[in-house]
Amino acid sequence: MTTIRLHNSRTRTKEVFIPLDPDNVRMYVCGPTVYDRAHLGNARPVVAFDVLFRLLCHVYGADHVTYVRNFTDVDDKINARAAGTGRSIGDITDETIGWYHADMDALGALRPTAEPRATDWIGAMKDMIAELIAKGHAYEAAGHVLFAVESYARYGSLSGRSIDDMIAGARVEVAPYKRNPMDFVLWKPSDPDTPGWDSDWGRGRPGWHIECSAMARELLGAEFDIHAGGNDLLFPHHENEIAQSRCANGTEAMAQVWLHNEMLQVEGKKMSKSLGNFFTVRDLLDQGVPGEVIRFVMLGTHYRKPMDWTVEKRVEAEFRLRGFLELLASSEIDLSSSVGSPHQAIIDALSDDLNTHAALIVLLKFDNPIYAQELANALVFLGLFSEASLKARVDEIRCWQLMLVDWKLRLENVRKSAIVSKDFSELDDLKEKLDQVGVSVRMSRNDIDLAIQIDFDPAKLESLK
Ligand code: AMP
Ligand code: ZN
Repeated sequence: MTTIRLHNSRTRTKEVFIPLDPDNVRMYVCGPTVYDRAHLGNARPVVAFDVLFRLLCHVYGADHVTYVRNFTDVDDKINARAAGTGRSIGDITDETIGWYHADMDALGALRPTAEPRATDWIGAMKDMIAELIAKGHAYEAAGHVLFAVESYARYGSLSGRSIDDMIAGARVEVAPYKRNPMDFVLWKPSDPDTPGWDSDWGRGRPGWHIECSAMARELLGAEFDIHAGGNDLLFPHHENEIAQSRCANGTEAMAQVWLHNEMLQVEGKKMSKSLGNFFTVRDLLDQGVPGEVIRFVMLGTHYRKPMDWTVEKRVEAEFRLRGFLELLASSEIDLSSSVGSPHQAIIDALSDDLNTHAALIVLLKFDNPIYAQELANALVFLGLFSEASLKARVDEIRCWQLMLVDWKLRLENVRKSAIVSKDFSELDDLKEKLDQVGVSVRMSRNDIDLAIQIDFDPAKLESLK
């Protein structure tokens, strides 16, 4: 069996991955807070851990992997959006979840096994909070329930900080009812205009961290294999999840392996609204950048390295992907039946802590007609195309290639006549028109070679007739 190695943030080393139960490999990824379109950075963990999901399914069997990614649909940012727009919270979260699905589908990300919405699991959160109070790890104060960080000796071990360092370095919310400034909220009171649920501690709503601990326990168990998210979540979110889960469940660990992706930047700068370089996945898709191009660029950088989105990389990805599709279109390959397993070199690259960059180098080695089948297998396995979309795209290019065969004949005839009449104006005119619709024409003594450019427009070519 393939050996997967993953860099575990908990131990700060790359380790051989050994699932607790190979018949049910369990992974949890922190999902989005649903009040707005996902920005390009939000897509990075989705794509990176989608690759991991695919790898786990390959190695352990698709029926033996459970992947949970939550939707945070109760949050003060959502409340503010509702208050600001006069729309209901449910309306905003439903719409945003629909957008999220459409955008992440376009990036080739498979849907997780389960996508729990926090508001469907409030009961589980209340149970966990009650357990924490009963075990002396949490206390009620001024309508809040707080986790007592001093009750858990290993608080800070994931992020490698002591409580004193945290207090000195962090912008902690100082509140008179907190026993320690680092104590964090499990439950907070809601005023009549804010969403709330009745509880033993009054009408209120859960804190963010308890959400993931409660839903992970319900859907994956007290201990599971992998927990992942962006490295901005390492502290405090993941530190707090571990504290809550270990203390409530009495387990040695929450997840065995913690994975964190680095942040995405744009042209070397942090993506931010104030710098004017902030954009959503949908912005790019609407500008005509296909999902597979975005995915290809993302796979080009290892998930633990900062990633830079640049126009140059986008153009390079478009060029490479078009080249792959043309190669497949020119080959004999029949895509009507399902594609096969990926080459072991792809699996080996990904098994080395999800080295997607190395996997793309393997993919480029398949950019040769003798490897057409390997290329197709790898493109589908890496999620750049689904089987159906690969077939559709290749069929489309085969159609274009047929159109070019007709044009080649026509140009040959026009050239023959031109040689006789010594009038090349019609030939020049056709060349010019073809160039304008994205078909380049190269004429040599004995041949005419037509090639599709990246800006090729089949409808315009059709109308040239
Ligand atoms: P949020 O909705 O802000 O909680 O973010 C959802 C996911 O996107 C989390 O796993 C974050 O760590 C991740 N994320 C947010 N911004 C970026 C970024 N610029 N680059 C990579 N990941 C990010
Ligand atoms: Zn989480």
